[in-house]
Amino acid sequence: MSQLDKQDPRDQYARPPFPAQTQQGSGRAAELDPPADHGETSYQGTGRMRGYRVLVTGADSGIGRAAAIAMAKEGADVALNALPEEIDDLTEVRDVIADLGRTAVMLPGDLTDEGFCTELVRTAVDLLGGLDALALVAGHQKVHEDITEQSTEDFDRTMKVNLYSLFWLTRAAVPHLAPGSAIVTTSSVSAYLPQDRMIDYAATKAAIITYTNGLARQLASKGIRANTVVPGPVWTPLQPISYPGDEIAAYGQDTPLGRPAQPVELGSAYVYLAGPESSYTSGTTLTVGGATGVAL
Ligand code: NAD
Ligand code: MG
Repeated sequence: MSQLDKQDPRDQYARPPFPAQTQQGSGRAAELDPPADHGETSYQGTGRMRGYRVLVTGADSGIGRAAAIAMAKEGADVALNALPEEIDDLTEVRDVIADLGRTAVMLPGDLTDEGFCTELVRTAVDLLGGLDALALVAGHQKVHEDITEQSTEDFDRTMKVNLYSLFWLTRAAVPHLAPGSAIVTTSSVSAYLPQDRMIDYAATKAAIITYTNGLARQLASKGIRANTVVPGPVWTPLQPISYPGDEIAAYGQDTPLGRPAQPVELGSAYVYLAGPESSYTSGTTLTVGGATGVAL
């Protein structure tokens, strides 16, 4: 089945209960059980981003991997960023895209480093011969049950990965973006209903929406659009590195559709907002939230 076949969304992809599981560090796509669907075979491209050159962050796993694969299947060449320790996942994505006959370059590095962010954009422009879109998907979250247990360093990391990198990457990219280019950022339904144990994360996700809306207004005079994807629960390594195993076993169970999204279900949202079809859409959000009703 491809993602273009009409199906019942309730059982189109895996439903909980899942095996209880946790992961360490930044997690690995291959350790997810059941495996996540990033569109490697299920996503069907129709040439919607032919000739585009896109920088994708968080491209090794989860939503970023699905966005990179979807865009490549639509005809885009891509520069792929992730943390250096995620190079195995990133190489898998590079190979999938290279097999499609598209250009995929790996540019690993830490987005909490301003100098690296500037260099990342410059290298992507050099290697792709220009830049037409940014898909900023990388994100950091960590559970803190009680505010008194959270360090400043930890708070700072959430701000740096989720918010500062958006500023640093966009600032570096704008001089290279011709009219018709687009920026797509990544928020979360947590922006609207913060979990009580991840309030710094939720605050960055709310700020991303406002910042992107502001960018859209500022960059309209240059012919550049900016929009935000707002995911609900998605089956990615971010969850088993964050929550206890028994919570992962029931992940997505309490949503109206009774399951989490698979990353491939987010891919088309990035294609739509980065590509030419959304030419009058700017400064807004596209929620892929499974009828949770939190973000409209
Ligand atoms: P994921 O773990 O697969 O992807 C997150 C990626 O962020 C990592 O793979 C890593 O490459 C990148 N990253 C983290 N810190 C970094 C750093 N310092 N430098 C460079 N890269 C860094 O998980 P995902 O769920 O696909 O997350 C993608 C985005 O979706 C995040 O912004 C997340 O907040 C958002 N989101 C996810 C969910 C969900 O349920 N999975 C829900 C709402 C929003
Ligand atoms: Mg990863």
